[in-house]
Amino acid sequence: MKLSKNAEQLLNARYLLKNIDGKVVESPEALFRRVAQCVASAENKDAQTWEDRFYTLLTSLQFLPNSPTLMNAGLPNGQLSACFVLPVEDSLSSIFTTLKDMALIHQSGGGTGYNFSQLRPQGDLVSSSGGVSSGPLAFIKIYDTATEHVRQGGKRRGANMGILNVDHPDIEAFIISKSQGNILQNFNLSVGITDDFMHAVGTGSDWKLINPRTKKVAKIVKATVLWDKIVEQAWATGDPGLIFLDAMNRHNPVPKEGRIQSTNPCGEVPLFDYESCNLGSINLSKIIKIDGEQQRTVDWDKLDEAIAVAMRFLDNIVSINHYLLPQIAKATKNNRKVGLGVMGWAEMLALLNIPYASEEAISLGEKIMHFVRSKSYKASAELAEERGTFPNWEKSIFHPHEPMRNATCNSIAPTGSISVIAGTSYSIEPLYALAYKRVGILGDQTQMEINPVFVDFMQSLGLWTDAVKTEVLDTGGIQALMDIPAHIRKVFQTSLDIHWKYHLKHQQAFQRYTDNAVSKTINLAENASKETVSDIYMTAWKYELKGITIYRDGSKANQVLQACHLN
Ligand code: ADP
Repeated sequence: MKLSKNAEQLLNARYLLKNIDGKVVESPEALFRRVAQCVASAENKDAQTWEDRFYTLLTSLQFLPNSPTLMNAGLPNGQLSACFVLPVEDSLSSIFTTLKDMALIHQSGGGTGYNFSQLRPQGDLVSSSGGVSSGPLAFIKIYDTATEHVRQGGKRRGANMGILNVDHPDIEAFIISKSQGNILQNFNLSVGITDDFMHAVGTGSDWKLINPRTKKVAKIVKATVLWDKIVEQAWATGDPGLIFLDAMNRHNPVPKEGRIQSTNPCGEVPLFDYESCNLGSINLSKIIKIDGEQQRTVDWDKLDEAIAVAMRFLDNIVSINHYLLPQIAKATKNNRKVGLGVMGWAEMLALLNIPYASEEAISLGEKIMHFVRSKSYKASAELAEERGTFPNWEKSIFHPHEPMRNATCNSIAPTGSISVIAGTSYSIEPLYALAYKRVGILGDQTQMEINPVFVDFMQSLGLWTDAVKTEVLDTGGIQALMDIPAHIRKVFQTSLDIHWKYHLKHQQAFQRYTDNAVSKTINLAENASKETVSDIYMTAWKYELKGITIYRDGSKANQVLQACHLN
């Protein structure tokens, strides 16, 4: 297999099996064989054929599943999912049961999300003790500290999503919580937003904060005051993001099971309590062919085939996974949610000579994701014919017309690690830089890497000179090199060169055809204003996105998973 240096190092450090002395005892090929064999063990017949097909798909780096599958498949009690949501009810017993479950999930490599809005506010009555409650923030801090100390099998620290709804009495404290020192580093925080709140912001109305225990109004504030606080904090620290609860529930495939209140850590999977989800991403930079006129184009047949095999792979995982708790097994198997998405989108665009910041890119993005969705739904329907529908199917929006094996099929994950293994650009993000060191994943061990797609491109045009190389190593980009033709400079614009409107349009294009959600960070230059952050958050709601996160360059944020996106 041909792997980049960074991929090899990452695999060595975290994925390849080691003996008790810590010595690596597995090659990358053996890792993919272990994964393929384990996932094919769900097959009733032709297991060897399926194993080989999975192996080919993985080793060609056309598709990779989420990290826990790569790390744990084939091991005793291997836990294979990346995404979980756990309940937090208004009792010490529930809070600490979930804390323990969180620790077990983190230890296995999974990430957890929770909505803390059922907890009574700080200072509220506790009848059993006659005392007063500490409120959700105190408990979020406990979860954060516990996360800090549960390393995931010595591989990575856990990640959490903490949500508090915008009508909770402690919402103001929640919004500003990350501004108070280096705290809550293991949490992404999001405010749970409703359409009513957005209308109240639009009309400048009053907004009621309601005690979840008594259901009584605890305080009345101006919606715009809360909005400005959210914007100001996001501008200063990157947190909080927003989760749009109503948009999320308009697309809930099993509304009879109740409202969805939370997502996994990076926001790409809305889940019920105790549900887990398996993710996988197709590497679009590998889905390109040369046509009759020697031009590069999208290889739709290859994409079609990759989707069908990947969907079977993800559905198999639901069947063979080792579930840490019976509640998780039950909730997950009832809906059999999977999230097939993409990575390497920016590299695909560069290979096709299309600038990220262009309408052409947006319409190709829609076309690709439309294709991914329709082919994965087709694959899920075929799996339903073969294996039966998911148990909650009769309660779902698919009943009675569309037999489905999986209540959801698609998510766009950040691919923070698997895109490094695949040697491509993150998720649907623009190129972060043309030369980079990926810190946050491996600290100092990483090497300076110049994007090979860029080098090839420049070489093919005879434009790869020492001057270009020096500039790229110094600045990460080529925007200052006026000798390079404008179109080429545009194709190789990096994240901060790209206007936020295009960041958001890409998120919208992919969300339109993604039944779960899209994890994306809108990267802003350091001098971006608070008004810009407000515009972005407002536009995200109007675009019917399910969530939104920004990161202003140089701001205080140390986001759980975004660190690896940075130079
Ligand atoms: P990967 O590339 O490792 O497969 P992603 O960056 O795509 O993972 O993240 C997908 C999901 O995996 C996240 O939303 C989160 O649920 C989970 N996850 C990622 N990194 C971590 C981590 N360090 N700890 C716990 N969960 C994680």
